[in-house]
Amino acid sequence: MLEVILKGHDKFYGVSDVVRMFCGVPEELKDEGKVIAPEGPDLRLINELLDDGRSVTYSDDKAYEYKGELLEPGREIKRSLYMALSDITSKKMPWGCLTGIRPTLVALEEKSPDDLEEKYFVRPDKAKLAYETSREEQRILQLVPEDSLCVYVGIPFCPSRCEYCSFVSSDISCHMDRLINYEAALEREIKLIASSIRRPLAALYVGGGTPTVLQDKEFTSLLNCIYSNLKISPECEVTVEAGRPDTITDGKLEAMKDHGITRICINPQTMRSETLLRVGRKHTAEDVIRIYDQACNMGFNLINMDLIAGLPYEEPEEHIESTRKLIELNPANITVHTLYKKRRAAMSRETVMDKNKTRGTLDECVAESYKLLEEAGYHPYYMYRQKDTGHGLENTGFAKGNTGNLYNVAMMSDCRDVLSFGAGGMSKRCFIQEGELYKHRVERCPTIKDVLTYIERVEEMAEKKIRFFGM
Ligand code: SF4
Repeated sequence: MLEVILKGHDKFYGVSDVVRMFCGVPEELKDEGKVIAPEGPDLRLINELLDDGRSVTYSDDKAYEYKGELLEPGREIKRSLYMALSDITSKKMPWGCLTGIRPTLVALEEKSPDDLEEKYFVRPDKAKLAYETSREEQRILQLVPEDSLCVYVGIPFCPSRCEYCSFVSSDISCHMDRLINYEAALEREIKLIASSIRRPLAALYVGGGTPTVLQDKEFTSLLNCIYSNLKISPECEVTVEAGRPDTITDGKLEAMKDHGITRICINPQTMRSETLLRVGRKHTAEDVIRIYDQACNMGFNLINMDLIAGLPYEEPEEHIESTRKLIELNPANITVHTLYKKRRAAMSRETVMDKNKTRGTLDECVAESYKLLEEAGYHPYYMYRQKDTGHGLENTGFAKGNTGNLYNVAMMSDCRDVLSFGAGGMSKRCFIQEGELYKHRVERCPTIKDVLTYIERVEEMAEKKIRFFGM
């Protein structure tokens, strides 16, 4: 068992983050001032923060300390601990000692990818990815005025539950009645808040779940409600997540087209039908192609397609094949996710960390996907990491030309306000902090996750948001 004693600081969270990368799930024993990892090597380390801000990690016979430029204390302690664990286990992580969900924020502080390699031990390909993406994110963020508002409309229902899913989403096969009542409550919330909004809307995202799980009538009604109550100018980017092809109908495509919506997501996750069916999705790769072609023929010219690398029941090479197939379809955006395990997913951590998909193979397969995408003219425009990717990788959105999604960038940036309608949504206000160019102070206002309670208390939710935004 690995034991890390904290000395001169109480940054348990940072220590746990680094330990998790090397030794599996850690445990924080705050009373004893240490973090342990039962799956780690039999070893005791002392992670010290000195008065002058430097950090040293001691093993029985060695002291690990970075000799170059000093970082802020939270990063210093992670860096010295990373140096120790990397040396002891002979492992290097793709993102070095960066553990946060937004490596592009760190990249913005640096003058070149080399700085990320040198100061944080980030591997060259990831350093280049973070550096280039950070600049593209900033370019896109400039298109979202600071005083504008981004809006999210959430429909937390799906036609069936994907085995790897961790979202709060109800399967309509058991909850059809709730879906109808939910849609009505959602319209009510939009109407209650809409007249109080005084700010221009820069981007609106209808997401889920799977919004197109609504029947044609309710789906059309929701779009009508959005467009007749919210002031959506021609400049406002509108995206509808039409995620699952088995929910997309002519009626829904026509309803979107009638409102001038041309940006949608059709998310196959993989183009291998056998995997799709085994993870619980009720459609095939052929359905994806059919719906994609239909949407293109109807004029939807800004389509995003998501892929997940590391899905169970398929080999890494099959993910690369899926990337090739999507490139052939030529959508404007392709987002490559790496499978990760969250608490609510049916899939076990062991499945996610399948021995056949060791860090090496998944890492190589993601790198190959990126290479194919870049060769096909796509460039990364936003990226983030998730806490428990297990494999330590990231999710990256690729775009052709200037088609990157404003909402994705603005929402992830934590620098633009987001008003969220629907159960489980998170509204946020972002305040500029003196001396901080890229990091804002964020205040959040959550909405009840439980669908039935949301339906019952929608007025209260609306009032809470009106107060939160000071409207
Ligand atoms: S479609 Fe998306 S939100 Fe719905 S169950 Fe699958 S992964 Fe979860």
